[in-house]
Amino acid sequence: RPRALSGIQPTAGSFHLGNYLGAVRQYVALQETHDAFYMVVDLHAITVPQDPAELRANTRLAAAQLLAAGLDPRRCTLFIQSHVPEHAQLAWVMNCITGFGEASRMTQFKDKSAKQGADRATVGLFTYPILQVADILLYQANAVPVGEDQRQHVELTRDLAERFNSRFGQTFTVPAPYILKEVGKIYDLQDPAAKMSKSASTPKGLINLLDEPKATAKKIKSAVTDTGTEIRFDPETKPGVSNLLTIYSTLTDTTVAQLEDKYTGKGYGALKTDLADAMVEFVTPFRSRTQEYLDDPETLDSILAEGAEKARAVAAETLAQTYDRVGFLPAK
Ligand code: ATP
Ligand code: MG
Repeated sequence: RPRALSGIQPTAGSFHLGNYLGAVRQYVALQETHDAFYMVVDLHAITVPQDPAELRANTRLAAAQLLAAGLDPRRCTLFIQSHVPEHAQLAWVMNCITGFGEASRMTQFKDKSAKQGADRATVGLFTYPILQVADILLYQANAVPVGEDQRQHVELTRDLAERFNSRFGQTFTVPAPYILKEVGKIYDLQDPAAKMSKSASTPKGLINLLDEPKATAKKIKSAVTDTGTEIRFDPETKPGVSNLLTIYSTLTDTTVAQLEDKYTGKGYGALKTDLADAMVEFVTPFRSRTQEYLDDPETLDSILAEGAEKARAVAAETLAQTYDRVGFLPAK
């Protein structure tokens, strides 16, 4: 079976709709076809200032949401990144084969550091794509299910894997991004030119899956559309409506063409009302399943402990081989 690897940050508490449609939904699907490793990337979460108690709570919460979304610990390996120390260890080696200019070209760093102010941004934020390289290479992953915003980091991973392999001998599988064209970028409901984002969206533009379903319905109903009336998928001239169609289509397993048919002659209001209902139907059981996992922290922690053990077995083998290849003297 090919391997899949991905991770999600425990920064903001609730997952948002973009996280779910762009990434987590694919995690669930790939359990069936891949030997899949999924993790809550707490090491990445400290690249921006964090509150320790909140980080701990949000890490459990992220794991609970992954399970509520459909990850099955019998069919995938679910773990917390910091439970597997090899991530930080391999990241150091990767840092040492990455060019400074190469790292400086990462657009996520440029965006996030610009927002924070250049002197507040940390070196950790700068090298976080290289930690991500280590995350992926440790598991010899073939497929990396992520949203469009992560494509550049997977490309960097491919470059560094090939560089290491050619310098030190075949060591790493060269991975490919697994990005679905339709849902790779879900847009902010109030600003359909921008991606829906944990850290950048305004509350009205962002659908948090754990929010009150009523509040979520309201956000859908007040989503920005355009001055026309026609319900047609056209991201160029109708970005708001097209985003709603993408969301509705994916949530209900209906094609966009079927939706265009269904809403011929109807206004935006009808589409929004129906999508709001579909959202409520989706988030209601998601919230209660998440709560069930949170209410039973012993079960949750034992799932994570088992996951970390399975992950470490793979990660340790890759790291040992890497250390050997670069010329580190083995500890006796
Ligand atoms: P931030 O904006 O702070 O980076 P985020 O919203 O991107 O947060 P992450 O935890 O960084 O959240 O991303 C988790 C996964 O969700 C990644 O694979 C990312 O590509 C994907 N993702 C995030 N936002 C979207 C979006 N709007 N559409 C599709 N996929 C997304
Ligand atoms: Mg992100």
